[in-house]
Amino acid sequence: MDFSSSVGQLPFVGTTYVDRLAKLGINTIGDLLHHVPHRYDDFRQIESVASLEPGEVVTVRGEIVSIVNQYTRSGRKIQIAKIADDTGTIYVFWFNQPFLIRTLPVGTKVSLAGKIGWWSRAKAIVSPEYEIINVGPPGGEASTHTGRLVPVYHETAGVSSKWLRSRIKTAFEKIDPKEFKDFLSKETLKKLNLTSFLTAIKDVHYPKNLEAAKNARRRLALNELLDLQSANIKKRKQWQKNKVSYQLTVSQPSVNQFISSLPFELTTAQKFTVKEILEDLQKNIPMNRLLEGDVGSGKTVVAAAAAYVAFVNGHQTVLMAPTQILATQHFETLKALFGSFGARVSLITSAITKQSLGRADIIVGTHALIHTKARTTDAALVIIDEQHKFGVEQREHLTKGTSSPHVLTMTATPIPRTVALTFYGDLDLSTLDELPPGRQKITTWVVPETKRASAYNWIRSQITSNQSQVFVICPLIDESEKETLKHVKSAKEEYLKLKKVFADFKVDLLHGRLKGKQKEKVMANFKNGQTAILVSTPVVEVGMDVPNATIMVIETADRFGLASLHQLRGRIGRGAKKSYCLLFAEDPSQKAIERLEALKTTKSGRQLAELDLKLRGPGEIWGSRQSGIPELTIATWSDIDLIKASKKVAEELVGP
Ligand code: ADP
Ligand code: MG
Repeated sequence: MDFSSSVGQLPFVGTTYVDRLAKLGINTIGDLLHHVPHRYDDFRQIESVASLEPGEVVTVRGEIVSIVNQYTRSGRKIQIAKIADDTGTIYVFWFNQPFLIRTLPVGTKVSLAGKIGWWSRAKAIVSPEYEIINVGPPGGEASTHTGRLVPVYHETAGVSSKWLRSRIKTAFEKIDPKEFKDFLSKETLKKLNLTSFLTAIKDVHYPKNLEAAKNARRRLALNELLDLQSANIKKRKQWQKNKVSYQLTVSQPSVNQFISSLPFELTTAQKFTVKEILEDLQKNIPMNRLLEGDVGSGKTVVAAAAAYVAFVNGHQTVLMAPTQILATQHFETLKALFGSFGARVSLITSAITKQSLGRADIIVGTHALIHTKARTTDAALVIIDEQHKFGVEQREHLTKGTSSPHVLTMTATPIPRTVALTFYGDLDLSTLDELPPGRQKITTWVVPETKRASAYNWIRSQITSNQSQVFVICPLIDESEKETLKHVKSAKEEYLKLKKVFADFKVDLLHGRLKGKQKEKVMANFKNGQTAILVSTPVVEVGMDVPNATIMVIETADRFGLASLHQLRGRIGRGAKKSYCLLFAEDPSQKAIERLEALKTTKSGRQLAELDLKLRGPGEIWGSRQSGIPELTIATWSDIDLIKASKKVAEELVGP
């Protein structure tokens, strides 16, 4: 058997188990051996019966001297056994496992591991792990579930850690040892202080001590990161084999003319980024660059500078936006920027046919409308706005034969730099890490539940005296999504409530399940000022530009990552008026509040993402599901050193 063999080839793994294991993401023997424990039970301390003390967690070995089933008054079945070794006897209790009477008949030599407790006034072992000692003296044999650091795995219905342990043991016996041949050289292992692959796989399941377990995990984490990094390096190389569709020349005076035509001065970050991009455009390898910057950092004008170069060279630019509203917004912006240069900007809607586009210099539309080979590959430059909404694979469709346009992808998803460099490792990265000057500061408050009524009064007065408009963001759409999340607010529920609280104003509801037309209508009503309060799910995160919206209430804010909250509040503070963000939390603990309070002082999405990585660890940070960033199974995104090391190793492995 090798790593790619199906788990179904293992003894005692039939189709039922194959299906159950698939739920844990385990399909092959390799997957099974890489199913690493999330913790270990420390059953290393082996003691004789006489020396057992209540409260300790130990392994005891002895012989079953009696075992019976008994019913409790509530009808539960308990199994009461007594085991003996040379020093004495002790009671053992299990619950609802009547079959044990047959599995562990009197005379069976067993190894038991668990916590010593009391039963009435006698010392007892309650619900221990057990295994039968088949041969040799006690202590000589049983060591899968007792007597050691026992791994505890992620389980699923019908697949217990105990079962996994025994199958993993068998897998080790059956697998071809060649599979464990290390692909890293001895020098690399030594330099990075890493265990060999074989030792790592063994030690992660059978560690001698916690140190060994930790080292094993670190090595397997590196392997996981190497997979990502190598795939990225290969993708990058593949991309760089393409010839560029149209090689462009950059005339600096002409670019300067464009830049000085702008109604503002570029920020330092924008200038630097424009320079990086223009350098790419002159190469005969197509650009593949990610421009990352907070909402409002001014990515559009940077992209426009690139489009301008394409235009001056006589070639087309295609700009894809995730929604019709955003496409329209870009169209208006670009028309204003390019008007005086005679560039023809067109907006693709379902009504405009392909022919009439031929004459456009810059085509703007949703990706659904312009994402066809013909349009994108005839362009010299393709700009993709809000990358994560498309998925990475979109970029791969841009090549035609062996040539490709320059591609600039833009995202406002704030992710820590190491994560960006890994996850988007096949792209070059530019960052806009400053906002244009003179932005309205957003004052952020974490509001305790007790002040909700006065917060509503304040909002009411803001609407009345300043004609302010308000976003109210809830994590969920409706009750049905709730399940166990009792206190998480849903938009529909909140909408009904606020309609009563703010009966004198127009309150409206927006969420992802509304039909396209209806959604546009709701947004239009908010944009033109008819709606005072818009209750919404986080769908507003991307794109909506409503300068008059100056208040944002975020319900159950502690459910969001800091970076997501930051992105959400980027929807306000866009006009001349002062803006306010009010956060309500479900969890009133000091820790939760302190985490949210970081939003009061930190104004950089990336810094918040990095802070969240530290405070909450990986997982639901920076809205990973939405941003499409994969969860790692063994490695963690917070292990920056290992991530950096993995990149170097991958480069060495893949070669030039
Ligand atoms: P985003 O990065 O979120 O796409 P935009 O490109 O939409 O941001 O820019 C947000 C706003 O900031 C726009 O109104 C734009 O005109 C303005 N802007 C961009 N750069 C500057 C700058 N250097 N100085 C002042 N305003 C700027
Ligand atoms: Mg934008």
